[in-house]
Amino acid sequence: MFYGGITMKASKMLISTLKEAPNEAIISSHILLIRAGMIRKLVAGVYNYLPLGLRTLNKIENIIIDEMDRAGALQILSSAIQPKELWEASGRWQKYGPELMRFKDRHNREFCLGPTHEEIFTDLVKNEIKSRKNLPINLYQIQTKYRDELRPRFGLMRGREFIMKDSYSFDLNEEGLNQSYELMYKTYEKIFTRLGIDYKVVLADTGAIGGDGSHQFMALSDVGESDIIYCEHCNYAADEEKAQAKIDLYHDNIEEKTMELVLTPNKKTIDEVSDFLKLNKKDIVKSMVYRNLANNELVLVMVRGDREVNPIKVINALKIAEHELVLATAEDILEIHSFEGFVGPVGLNIKTLVDEEVAYMHNIVVGANKKDYHLTCVNFKRDFDGEVFDLRIVSKNDLCPICGNPLKMEKGIEMGQIFKLGTKYSLPLKCTYQDELGNNIPIVMGCYGIGVTRTMSSIIEQNHDEFGIIWPLNIAPYHVVIVPINYEDELIKKGSDYIYNRLNDTKVEIILDDREAKPGFKFKDWELIGIPYIITIGRKASENICELKKRRTLEKLELSYDEAIEFIKKQVENIK
Ligand code: ATP
Ligand code: MG
Repeated sequence: MFYGGITMKASKMLISTLKEAPNEAIISSHILLIRAGMIRKLVAGVYNYLPLGLRTLNKIENIIIDEMDRAGALQILSSAIQPKELWEASGRWQKYGPELMRFKDRHNREFCLGPTHEEIFTDLVKNEIKSRKNLPINLYQIQTKYRDELRPRFGLMRGREFIMKDSYSFDLNEEGLNQSYELMYKTYEKIFTRLGIDYKVVLADTGAIGGDGSHQFMALSDVGESDIIYCEHCNYAADEEKAQAKIDLYHDNIEEKTMELVLTPNKKTIDEVSDFLKLNKKDIVKSMVYRNLANNELVLVMVRGDREVNPIKVINALKIAEHELVLATAEDILEIHSFEGFVGPVGLNIKTLVDEEVAYMHNIVVGANKKDYHLTCVNFKRDFDGEVFDLRIVSKNDLCPICGNPLKMEKGIEMGQIFKLGTKYSLPLKCTYQDELGNNIPIVMGCYGIGVTRTMSSIIEQNHDEFGIIWPLNIAPYHVVIVPINYEDELIKKGSDYIYNRLNDTKVEIILDDREAKPGFKFKDWELIGIPYIITIGRKASENICELKKRRTLEKLELSYDEAIEFIKKQVENIK
C-alpha cells in the first residue's frame, strides 16, 4: 500500500546548517557535509550522521542493494566483532598490522573490529554450504567497518569507522569465478552510473586482501588520493600503485667502459651529482635502502635517477605486507659500511632489487659506498647483480605498456574495488566442496567492496558549487522545498499549503519551510543542503503563480501552482 510521499515542516526538522566549517575541513565534501548539517564529528575519523545526511546515505544504500539483488546476490548481516582465531587461520592477524583494531573481552579472549570480512564469510559458507549444488553463491552486506587509519582525514573519505558494501562470491572453479567477477564488474558500473558519478575503472594492486586480479572504480576528482594512469588509445587504465609502462631503452647498446671512482664532495642527491658531473639524471641510478621488517634484513632498491621507487611494487617483489617495509635509517646504512647519499650496489652484499629499466642501462653512475665518492661506468651483471623487477612509479608521458602511446594521468577517489581471490582464504580456512569422486576441493572466491560513505563524499565532490551541495534527484534527502516569503500572509500560506497538500499524495518528498525567518536565510539553507527544487511563493500568490528554481542550474521558472506540481511529479516519477 502506498501512503503518499514524505512531507516535512521545516520547523519540525533538525536543520543544523553552519556558516563555517572547522579549519581541519579542507576539501569541499568535508566542508559541505559539516556545513549542511549532514554529519558531525565525534572523534577523529568517526562521525554521527544527522537526519538529512542519513536520508541520502540510505538512498545510496538502496540503489546498491537494488543492483546487488538484481545480480542475484543475497544480503546478510554479520557482526563487526570478529574472533582472532579466524584471522590467525588466514595468517592476517599478524599481517594486517596496526590498522586492525584489536581488543580483549573479560575472559582475555582476543577479537578485532572487522576492517573487511573475508574470513567471516569464508567460514560462514564453509559451515552453511553442504553441497556443490548450492554453488555458485554470492553473499553481501552493508555494514560498518573499522580501520585505525594512520591519518583519518577529509571527513567521510578516510574514516576510522565507515560503511562498506562488501560481497563475496563462491564458485566451483576458476571459470565460475571469472563469470562472478564479470557480473560484479557490470553491477558496479550500473551502481555508479545510477549514482550519477563520473568514474573510471582501473587495474589495481591487490594489497592486503590478496589474490591475483583486481579493478578499482575511481571517481574522477582533483582531491582524489589515487593517481590514475591511462591511455586514450587502447583504454589501458591502472591505479598508480599497479601501473606499468614500456621500458625506456635510453641506454641500450652502449659499449661497456671501465669502472672509475670519482670524487663527488658532498654531492648526495641525484640533482647535485648530475650537476657536478654534468650528466643527465638518466645516467645516474638511485640506490634506496629499505628495511624488510618481516626478516629484519636490509634491501637495496635501484631505479633510474629521474624515477621514483614504487613501494607497493617493492612489497610485492618481497612478498611482504605494506607495514613491513620501512626506509632504512642513517645508522642502518653505516651498519652495511656505506654512507647516506653515497650508497651503491657494488660490493654491498645485501639483497638487491633492480628495476627492469636499470637492467638495460650501461655505464651508469652509482654511489661508491665511500663518503664523497661515486662510481662511473658501472654495469649490471659485470659489476653488481640483483633480482630484476618492475619497481618504478610510472609518470605522465611514459609509454603505454600495451600500445606504446603516451600515458595520461588524472586524480581519482577509490570508491570500490573488486578482487579475484582464488583459494587464498578457502584453502587455509578449509572452505571446500566434494567433487563427484568425493575429493575435497577448495571453493574459488572473489570479493567486492564499495565504500558507501566515501562514495557519498565523492558525489559531493562532483556535485557542488559556491552555494553548497547539488544532490542528484534520486539521492537528495528531499526532492523539493516550498519557501513562503511570509507564511503569516494568508494568500501565501494558502498557496504554500495547496502545493504541499497536493504533492503529499504523490511519491514526492517535500518540505514546507514554515520557519519564522527571512526568505534570504531560508534560501541559503536549502541551497547549502542541496535540495534539487525550490518553490518560492510570494509576489504573485494572488495569481496562483510561484517561482521554481532548479538547484543545479540556478535557473528560475515562473509557473502556475498546478504547473509546478506537475513538473515536480514528473521529475520524481522519472527517477530510475
Ligand atoms: P585505501 O587504499 O583508500 O585505503 P583500500 O584499498 O584499503 O582503500 P578496500 O580494502 O579495497 O580499501 O575497501 C573497499 C572500499 O572501502 C574502498 O574502495 C573504499 O571505497 C572504502 N574504504 C576503505 N578504507 C576506507 C576508509 N578509511 N574510510 C572510508 N572508506 C574507506
Ligand atoms: Mg582498495
